[in-house]
Amino acid sequence: MSRRRTWLILIAVVIATARVTVAPASPGDCATLRRLGQRAEAQACYRSLTLDGDPYLRAEGDWGLELYQDANNDFRAAVARDDRNAHYRVRWGRLLHERFNDAEAVALFAEAIERDPRSAEAYLGLALVGADAFDRKARANAEKALELDPSLVEAHELLANLALEDSNPAAAIEQADRAIRMAADALDAYAIRAAVEIVADRSPDAWVQRMLLVNPSYGRGYAIIASHLVLNRRYDDGVAYYRKAIDLDPRLWSARSELGINLMRLGQEEEPRRQLEQCYNNGYRNAATVNTLRLLDSYRNFTVSRTPQTILKLDTKEAAILRPYMDDVLKRAMATYARKYDMTLPGPVQVEVYPNHEDFAVRTEGLPGLGALGVTFGTVVAMDSPSGRKPGSFNWAETLWHEMNHVYVLTATKHRVPRWFAEGLAVHEEGLGSPGWGDRLTPDVVVALKEKKLLPVAQLDRGFVHPEYPDQVLVSYYQAGRVFDYIQAQWGADRIVDMVRRFGRRESTPDVVRQALGVEPEEFDRRFQAWLYADAGEIVPRFDEWRTRLKALAEMVKAGRHDEALKEGEALRRLYPAYVGDASPYVFLSQIDAARGDTAAAIAVLVDYRAFGGSNPDVLKQLATLQERAGRLRDAAMTLDAINEIYPVHDEDLHRRLGELSLRLQDAPGAIREFTALVALHPLDAAGALHQLATAYFAARQLDQAERTVLRALEAAPGYRPAQTLLLQIEDATPRRPSTNSADPVDSRTGPDRR
Ligand SMILES: [Zn+2]
Repeated sequence: MSRRRTWLILIAVVIATARVTVAPASPGDCATLRRLGQRAEAQACYRSLTLDGDPYLRAEGDWGLELYQDANNDFRAAVARDDRNAHYRVRWGRLLHERFNDAEAVALFAEAIERDPRSAEAYLGLALVGADAFDRKARANAEKALELDPSLVEAHELLANLALEDSNPAAAIEQADRAIRMAADALDAYAIRAAVEIVADRSPDAWVQRMLLVNPSYGRGYAIIASHLVLNRRYDDGVAYYRKAIDLDPRLWSARSELGINLMRLGQEEEPRRQLEQCYNNGYRNAATVNTLRLLDSYRNFTVSRTPQTILKLDTKEAAILRPYMDDVLKRAMATYARKYDMTLPGPVQVEVYPNHEDFAVRTEGLPGLGALGVTFGTVVAMDSPSGRKPGSFNWAETLWHEMNHVYVLTATKHRVPRWFAEGLAVHEEGLGSPGWGDRLTPDVVVALKEKKLLPVAQLDRGFVHPEYPDQVLVSYYQAGRVFDYIQAQWGADRIVDMVRRFGRRESTPDVVRQALGVEPEEFDRRFQAWLYADAGEIVPRFDEWRTRLKALAEMVKAGRHDEALKEGEALRRLYPAYVGDASPYVFLSQIDAARGDTAAAIAVLVDYRAFGGSNPDVLKQLATLQERAGRLRDAAMTLDAINEIYPVHDEDLHRRLGELSLRLQDAPGAIREFTALVALHPLDAAGALHQLATAYFAARQLDQAERTVLRALEAAPGYRPAQTLLLQIEDATPRRPSTNSADPVDSRTGPDRR
């Protein structure tokens, strides 16, 4: 900070203080004192306001003293007294925004605009509320505010913040510098300048010093820096800055709450609970604080299983059924990525699976642009359980595969990777993980392609953080994923790994494209989009036609015009092969084929459905039935196993069928897994399920397990013949033990000699 500027600020302090002592205080004076860190003086200033006869001034005084209820009452009185005053409503709205009531805050800003259409501060209020929700309208409102009042420093600061959220540091710097030129005490502008530096891995010290010179206890500045680190998925660094924030200003509850939430994201429980309870007990009860405390309470319902590499947290109700499947996918993902990126993780990965979608949503609160199925915080993955979603709407294995890619790529780059790159790469890896996985060309994406809504690769982050149309996040996932499909096809997979390393070294997106691929970003966009449109094919220009014809197809099927429907269905699936949603031609075609006894054709069409990611469990079961009927047992087993990736819960029939098929295919481990799942579902016929599990153990020659399990079956149904027969077979096959008076080997070991 220059000496001249220091003097300017000191003079500002003197003037502000002097004004307070010689003349009646104004809310602006008090705010200035507070902004300069003169806490005691600011308190005195606000206290003097509370003694005023004017309810508006009392409201400002109460608010300054954190007497929120009194402030609210006084604002109500002020507005009742002067209904035409827009400023009162704006200030009241700002209070309510600060106290977590955005709905009423927005209503007050709107009322202010009705009274004064040129109220810049009302538009600023709307912008602030929007910014908290990552609402695309925030920027427009801030710009509108500046149009009405170019001297609104806070609006420049907000625009700077939004620009940095969009990974546009140049625009952030421009806006912050404007704020600083207008006001030497533009504290948030200094904080954003510091954030620009730290996000780019340069030292933020110079800007932090300038900020602290204005206000040595400005914790909020550190909190702003922390929020950008978190947004860039640098959770450890974010936590460190939230700590600095509350060290300077222990009553900065918003920062303390964020500290707690981000510590929880790093897999901790005790400190987050302590920090959040402190916020709660001090009246800071925003949705994130309250919901996160509730979430921490719900951890009691989790069962944790650990290996040196993994910590799996599952709801106790479904742990037994999900664990074997999740362990499998987790192991396979870790082996794949460890090889691909040539690295091991620094510690175990923690995977949390939430059967209640609300709980999972709490985990991601305050983060923009999430696909809302899974989220990765460093080495902690949180995701929805299949039981929390409609069957067929979500493939948990694919989601876990995606999130595990984040774990590796974030670790490899020390979290220095732009959002578009991390998401695109993870989506691309889904497609490589298993046949039928990968992001689909859904109708939303087709419409976006038709309307030419793709973003240049260098600006793709914007599509995730501040979407400009409702489906832009989804479209951006798709686009980013396809970017890597294209790179792999044109340059090979090694080039992608090279790009990961370059991001780890902090190169920018345009530089990485230039260096790793040897083309200018604009040229890359041109070639990539040409490839993508060619690949998407005819459906893009003919989407409206397709939609009309799909409706007509459903009518044909309903009316029993099967010959016609077969022909039309075939044409439609060729026009848009990736469509596997509701009323898909694949399903119509297979139903007609099957009804006509053409099993082979019905199977072929459903195999395509599956290959394009069709995931309706009932349709897949139908495919398995057809395959079984055609004697293609191994295919049938694979089809049923695909349902395990989608909806393994609440489906006894699935596990019984796959278990029986596995036995017929002499896949004893597969049969054990499926019958274990069946038993875990507590079926009505418990004895039957246990007998089947025992049969599988017997087939695997795990005689102890087989014996124990068949005895459980007999316990449930003592007269159950098949179990009695199996027990005899097991005993025949069991080598004689020395002292087997009891059927239970545990008894003979813990018997008399222990007493
Ligand atoms: Zn992701």
